[in-house]
This record gives sequence, C-alpha cells and structure tokens, in this order.
Amino acid sequence: MKETTHPLPLPTPAGRKFSGTDQRAPLQSGLRACGEFGPTQTAGQFYPVACVALEVTQRCNLDCTLCYLSDQAEATNDPPLPVLFARLAMIHSHYGPGTSVQLTGGDPTLRSTDDLEALCREIRRLGLRSCLMTNGIRATRDILRRLAQAGLNDVAFHVDMTQERKGFSDEAGLNAVRLNYIARAQGLGVRILFNTTVFGGNFAELSDLARFFRDQDQVAFVSFQMQADTGRGVLRARPDVITQDSVMRAIEVGYGSTLDFDVVQVGHSQCNRYASVLRRPGYAMSLLAKRKLVRIMIAALAGVDRSSDGHLDIQDSLRRLTIRHPILATRAALGFLHVYLRVAFFDRWARPTRQTVFLHNFMASDDLDAGRCASCVFMVATPNGPLSMCVHNAHRDAHLAAVDQIETTQGPRWWNGAVSGLSDTDDLPNVVAHPSALAFKRLKGRLREQARVAGQSKEDL
Ligand code: SF4
Repeated sequence: MKETTHPLPLPTPAGRKFSGTDQRAPLQSGLRACGEFGPTQTAGQFYPVACVALEVTQRCNLDCTLCYLSDQAEATNDPPLPVLFARLAMIHSHYGPGTSVQLTGGDPTLRSTDDLEALCREIRRLGLRSCLMTNGIRATRDILRRLAQAGLNDVAFHVDMTQERKGFSDEAGLNAVRLNYIARAQGLGVRILFNTTVFGGNFAELSDLARFFRDQDQVAFVSFQMQADTGRGVLRARPDVITQDSVMRAIEVGYGSTLDFDVVQVGHSQCNRYASVLRRPGYAMSLLAKRKLVRIMIAALAGVDRSSDGHLDIQDSLRRLTIRHPILATRAALGFLHVYLRVAFFDRWARPTRQTVFLHNFMASDDLDAGRCASCVFMVATPNGPLSMCVHNAHRDAHLAAVDQIETTQGPRWWNGAVSGLSDTDDLPNVVAHPSALAFKRLKGRLREQARVAGQSKEDL
C-alpha cells in the first residue's frame, strides 16, 4: 500500500514499546503484515532492530547534494548530553542490550571528543554497540583512538561524489581519501565500514568502486545507499537507471562473483539487500551460495536460539546447534571450509576475510510505503520514541521542535532544538529558528542554492 504526504510522522509498530518480554514481536508483526516474514527472514527473528540512529548534532561540515537533513537542521542546537543519555536509555528499553547505536548527525565529530567519549562509555555501560558515522574529515587517528578506548565498536566512513569534496572529480579519485581513512582507523580494534550514496553522478563507476572495496582487507562492511528524493539536498528524484536490481548487478560485476542478495533477508526486501562474502585482493566468493543449506541453518538457529533479550547470541546458538544437529553443523562447516580454501588459494595463498555487502533503499519523502515503514529495521531515536528513518527524514523539521522530557536530580527538565540547554519549563518555542537568519556560509542544500541564485555570496556577508 502506498501513502503520499503525511502531515505528521507515521506511528510504526516497530516504534512502539512492546509490553511483553519479546522485543522482536513488533518488528515481526510489521514484517508479517506485508508478507515479508518468510523462512529466510532474520529481522524480527534474531534481532528486534538492525540499528538505531542517535543524532548528536544536526550540523555538518559538508553540504551533500543528496543530504537527508532538513532546511532547518543547521539552525538547530545540539542536544545536551543528559538528553542523549535519556535517548540511549530509551533505545535500551525498547530493543535491549546488543542493539547497534549509530552516533550520527550531521557529522558527529562536530561535537567535542569529550562528549563522544562519554556517549561511547554510556553505550558500552548499557551493553549496546556503538558506530561512529562520519564523513571522516575531522575523525583524526587521535580522536578515533580516544573513542576506541572509550568503547567504540565501529567507524563508518561516508565518502562519495555527492559530497563535492574539493579537488576530486570522480569516485576513483576519492579512493585516496578512503585509503587514508582506513589507515587512520586500522589497528585500533574498531571495525571499518564504508557508506556510499549511489546516484546518477557515480552509477557508471559503481562496479569499479565495488572492486576497490572488495580488495580492502581492513573493510568489514560496505553499504550502498540508493539516491532518494528526501531531505534538503539539491539533487532530487532517482534516475530510472538506478534500481535495486541494477545496483546489485553492478556490485556483482565489481566483486567478480554472484553475491546471492536474495538468499538472506534483513527486513523488508524492498528496503534492504544483504550479502556476505569471503574476499581477498582480486577475488571474492559468496558465503550464501548453498541456498538450501543456508535456509536450513536459519531454521535450525531459530530452533536453538535461547536469547532472552531478543538478540541472537551466535556463539551460544552455534554451540547448541552443533550438539543438537551435528550432521547439519558438519555440512555447514565443510561448506565454509570449501569457500575459504578456494578464496585462500586463488592464484597464490592469501588469508581471506569476511565482508558484508549491504544495499539500502531509502524512500522518497512524498512516497512513503506504510508497510515498509511499519517493518523498518533502521530507526532513529526521537523525543517520541524510535521512528523509521524514512519517516523521520520526511518530517525532520517537526521532530527538531519536539520536546524531550528528562528526569534530573532537581526534577524534570525539558529540551528541544530551539534552545541551547535544559529548560525548567516545557513551554519551549515550537519551531527552530528559520535558517534565513544564518550567514550564507552556514546555509545548506536547497536554501544555499536559492541564496546563490538570488545573488548572495560569502562576500556579501
Ligand atoms: S529507513 Fe526506510 S528504507 Fe530503511 S529500513 Fe526503514 S523504512 Fe526501509
């Protein structure tokens, strides 16, 4: 079912607190309702959400042509730490320990490193996982080291041509930036991830870029996100040439292998596609090629899973599976060994590493699909609870004015993006300052383009 413009954020089953003991139930029911909870579905079965974004600032030091932030974002105050701690507690209460929290924005490195360290420590204290989502410009090795010591699990670098970095004319040129970022993060004990927006300006380079990622030993996770008509960016509708199928095929060309994107489901199939490979420089093989075996393994894991908090404990479950289904476990181990040896001895010996390849299909803000929103695995923490990221992006300005209430030792306090600190009254402005008050250099996206067309420039101010 398609829905067009919503005046208010859609409530989603996955965004409501589940009163029972199984935190997977809301997502499971959302997926069931749209016929997506089949035998290969992992969401709602092994975890209650894939990740939750914690937006620690709305400010950014870039101006991406496909930015998902809103017109008023840049004029919004950063949430104080107590507000962010309260949102972390909310994430924990909805989804339980083990949930992956994305420290994001805007660019989170515009916050002080002290704040980011405090957030990493709190995330670790709650038993959650943390991922710093950054364009990398300010993410120095020293900062990454401090965050790793504070408990950071992952760093995800967003690098692509939508960012219009000075001096770069194509994705191939940006590989120097990517290599630099890998060098900054390697050896710190954090997993290295990369995000790439696939858009009309780089689609022709997608296979080459996929090949670059395949050949990086240090990269554990590669996410491709398809152009979506949402947010404040100046580029809007996705070109017809970019579809889930065309992107998957281009990635497979780059990896030089079929990647079996249709074998394991992570949420709604129109939202997410997942592949898992063993790779080494010059060669990769899918770990999901034995489809029937993968399906049997998913069913067997579901049968032995004893996690009480809604997140699969993979080591414990594999141990149980080996005891209960030794023949199946042996077949799976031999299948893995077969792929491992073929990759390892391709050409000459090299140690294979596992890499996840992910395709994410955000929706246009005026064309939200209610079923997909209700079965969203990528939520964002808001004052009103977790919300689908697509819904949030479509109504971001409304959320920036929504009020957080937090309990302090002095009693309740309130905050929204219109004020800089905690307030002792809930009577807060219901809109964030309009960015027309901002200097040209702080305008972003469409507003900046409008100002430029109107003849405004840095020199005017
Ligand atoms: S954020 Fe949007 S595209 Fe992504 S899983 Fe949620 S509903 Fe689907």
